Amino acid sequence: MDQQTSRVDVGIVGGGPAGLMTALLLKRRGISAAVVERRSQEAIRTTQRAGILEAPTVDMLVDAEIGSRVLTEGHEHEGTVLSFDGVQHRIDFQELVGRSVWLYPQNEVFRDLATAWQAEGGEIHWEADDVAVEGLESEAPVITFTDAAGEPGRIEAQLIVGADGSRSMCRRLIPDEVRTDYFTSYPFAWFGILCEAPPTAPELIYANSEVGFALISQRNEDITRMYFQCDPDTDPESWSEEAIFDHIQQVLGGEEVVQLKRGRIIEKTVLPFRSYVCDPLTHGRLVLAGDAGHTVPPTGAKGLNLAFSDVRALVPRIVEFLEGLTGGEGLTAGADDVGSGPGAPADLTAPLRRYSATSLDRVWKAQNFSWWATNLLHRAPDEDEFAHHRRRGEFRAITGSVHGQAYFADSYTGWAGDRHD
Ligand SMILES: Cc1cc2nc3c(=O)[nH]c(=O)nc-3n(C[C@H](O)[C@H](O)[C@H](O)COP(=O)(O)OP(=O)(O)OC[C@H]3O[C@@H](n4cnc5c(N)ncnc54)[C@H](O)[C@@H]3O)c2cc1C
Repeated sequence: MDQQTSRVDVGIVGGGPAGLMTALLLKRRGISAAVVERRSQEAIRTTQRAGILEAPTVDMLVDAEIGSRVLTEGHEHEGTVLSFDGVQHRIDFQELVGRSVWLYPQNEVFRDLATAWQAEGGEIHWEADDVAVEGLESEAPVITFTDAAGEPGRIEAQLIVGADGSRSMCRRLIPDEVRTDYFTSYPFAWFGILCEAPPTAPELIYANSEVGFALISQRNEDITRMYFQCDPDTDPESWSEEAIFDHIQQVLGGEEVVQLKRGRIIEKTVLPFRSYVCDPLTHGRLVLAGDAGHTVPPTGAKGLNLAFSDVRALVPRIVEFLEGLTGGEGLTAGADDVGSGPGAPADLTAPLRRYSATSLDRVWKAQNFSWWATNLLHRAPDEDEFAHHRRRGEFRAITGSVHGQAYFADSYTGWAGDRHD
C-alpha cells in the first residue's frame, strides 16, 4: 500500500450531513470508513441551508454522542403559524401529536458532525478534486481523487456510500437500464435572505397571499432567515432591501397582523427547487443516501431529516452486508433474496436492497407532503381566481379542523412510529 492508499470497510463520497453521520455511526459499530469531500469545511459551514430538525434527527445527534449543542443552542418549537391572506392560525404540534421540532441550523449540524469525526481521528479528505468511483460491480470498489495538495489518493473499500448531494455523481453510476428517475419541477423559486434582525415571532410563519408565499424562519437572537416566492430567473441584485421587506410584509398582511423585524441584509440567494427520486438507491457495491438519492422542495423542511432517516435505515443494513461478506451469522436472507434457493449462494447485496425499499417508502411520504405543502402555500404564476379561492378552501379545511391540523402536524414533525431502527 502506498502512502495515498487507504483500505477501509466503507468509502463515502460526500462530507455533508448524510456522509458524516454514516461515517460516525459506522464507527460506533466498529466499522471503518473514509470520507472524500469536494468542498472546504469553511465553504460548507458558511452555506445557509436547513434549519428545522425533527425529533428523531435530534435524537440521532444526541444518541451518537456527537455533542449536546443541539439541546443547549437549538430551540424547541412546539408549533408553527400558517397564514393565508393575513389571517393567522397556529398549529400546535405538541397538543396535536405530542411532538416538537427543533430549530438548529444545518451549519451547526455540520460543525458538530465534522468536529466529532475529526476529533475521533476519522479519515476525511477535504477539497478533493477529480473524485471517481470504480469497480462497483466487483468485490473491490475504489474511490480515486486528487487531494487538496494535488496528490493522487485512493480508497479501497468493500462498499461505497454515495452521499454527494443533489447533483450526485455516484447516482449516475447506477446504469440507466436499472435506474428510474422520478422528477417534477415548479414554476417558482425561493428568494432567501439572511438579515441582521431579531426574530419577528417566537415560531416560524408560513404565509401566503395574493402575491405569493413567504416564510419567516430564524437563526438566532440577532440574525433572521426569511424567504419569499420569486421567479426562478430572478437576479437577487434586482431587489432592494426596502422592496424585499415591503414585499414580505405584504405577504404577511398589515403591520397590525404582525410587524416584520427588518435589518441589514447580509446574504441574498435564489433557490430553484424540484422534487426528485432515484429508484433503486443501490446497485452492486454502491448505496445512495440523502440528497444524492432524492431531493424535495424545502417547504416541508424534510431534506436534512430524510438524509438522517436514510442513515438510520442504512447503517444496520451495512452491518448485515459486511457480516455476510465474512460469512458472519448476522446475514439474514430476506424475502427479496432473488435466486437464493437451497444450495444457491446467498445474495449478499439483499440487505442493501432492503435499505432502498425502506428508505423509499419514507421518501415518497415526504415527497407527497413537500409537494402538497408547496402547492398549498405558493401561488402559481398562472393561477386564476378560481384556483386561488380553491386553495383558500383547502387551507381552511386544514386550519379549521383538528384532523386537518393533525395531518399537517404529524407530517411536519416526522410521522409517529416511523423509526427504522
Ligand atoms: C435553502 C435550503 C433550505 C433548506 N431547508 C431545509 C429544512 O428546513 N429542513 C430540512 O430538513 N432540509 C432543508 N433543506 C435540505 C437540506 O439542506 C438537504 O437535504 C441536506 O443538505 C442533505 O444532506 P446531504 O448530506 O444528503 O447532502 P449535502 O448537504 O448536499 O452534502 C453533500 C456533500 O457532497 C459533496 N459532494 C458533491 N459532489 C461530490 C463529489 N463528486 N465528490 C466529493 N464530494 C462531493 C458536496 O460538496 C456536499 O458537501 C434545505 C435546503 C436548502 C438549499
